[in-house]
Amino acid sequence: MGRNRGKVTESGRTTTSTPTPDCGIPPFQAALSGHGVGELHPTGIDILQVNTGYRCNLRCTHCHVDARPDRAEVMSRETMRQCVEVLKSNPVRTLDITGGAPEMNPDFRWFIDEARSARADLEILVRSNLTLLVGHAAYSDIPAFLKERRVHIIASLPCFTREQVDRQRGSGVFDRSVEALKMLNGIGYGIVGSPLSLNLVYNPPGPELPECQHQLEDEYRKQLSGQFGITFTKLFTLTNMPISRFLLSLLESGDYCSYMELLAGKFNPAAAGSLMCLDTISVRWDGRLYDCDFNQMLDLPLDPSAGRHIGEFDRERLLGRRIAVGQHCYGCTAGSGSSCQGSLV
Ligand code: SF4
Ligand code: SF4
Repeated sequence: MGRNRGKVTESGRTTTSTPTPDCGIPPFQAALSGHGVGELHPTGIDILQVNTGYRCNLRCTHCHVDARPDRAEVMSRETMRQCVEVLKSNPVRTLDITGGAPEMNPDFRWFIDEARSARADLEILVRSNLTLLVGHAAYSDIPAFLKERRVHIIASLPCFTREQVDRQRGSGVFDRSVEALKMLNGIGYGIVGSPLSLNLVYNPPGPELPECQHQLEDEYRKQLSGQFGITFTKLFTLTNMPISRFLLSLLESGDYCSYMELLAGKFNPAAAGSLMCLDTISVRWDGRLYDCDFNQMLDLPLDPSAGRHIGEFDRERLLGRRIAVGQHCYGCTAGSGSSCQGSLV
């Protein structure tokens, strides 16, 4: 699975103005135009992805959020209330709750209860790093809480080996993740025939593209089942985005241009037709809206004609916007493509 060349830096915050070398790579928009795709415009707003804050108990080398325990950005109940109002009055299919570690938001349970009460038909997903779900008294109720409210779990597990996971995420994380996965299987998540899905997320350890999602899923099944008796629903492979903590590690190691050349060289026009920004709106902890979680991290603003805050959510205006793109977008179109729901083609 390759060698980890990432290194955690003190501050992993980057924006669109963070200086990067000129690698001679054409602007992403030119790559789109060269394949007859043109400007990106939404096809719908099916997913509301809500980032409830950047605080996390871990500090992974590849984190595109620069999440860590001391981050102060946490979504308020008032902003969550505005998200629920949007869910009540718009045909959004999925609420995708992410972070940081969303469980650490003090209003995490309140938000899910409100969303479920507002919409019985809503698909609710929570992205968890697994490690808070076992051995922490403050969070021990969460698995049963999620099960009762029919919330699906997307869990990051960047490898099936202890060595690799602990290198990327910190010492002891693999064993805690395995314990959590066994516990989730035990209450019905990720087992054959269960309506409660437990999807795992893989990302490469360094500046390389993920392997084929289907083949890697087979290998994950074989390894996790064989070693630990763990089952899961699907594996999502994600490409490391050249932003935030991973961008800084690329700059530090001198791998930035070679990684961007890899991404641009593997540009796949078929992936451009399924990009997650085409049907997703991302909400920042303070209610600001973005085209995707990655644009949120770069503070790449939404088309001003669309309104920029959850409190001024207007479906028609949002559908008419132009999606803001940049060089980081090559991460979504390389190879089999990449999104928060895994590969695209
Ligand atoms: S668990 Fe997720 S949010 Fe937390 S540091 Fe790791 S990658 Fe970032
Ligand atoms: S980074 Fe965001 S805006 Fe760019 S292609 Fe990916 S999903 Fe779309």
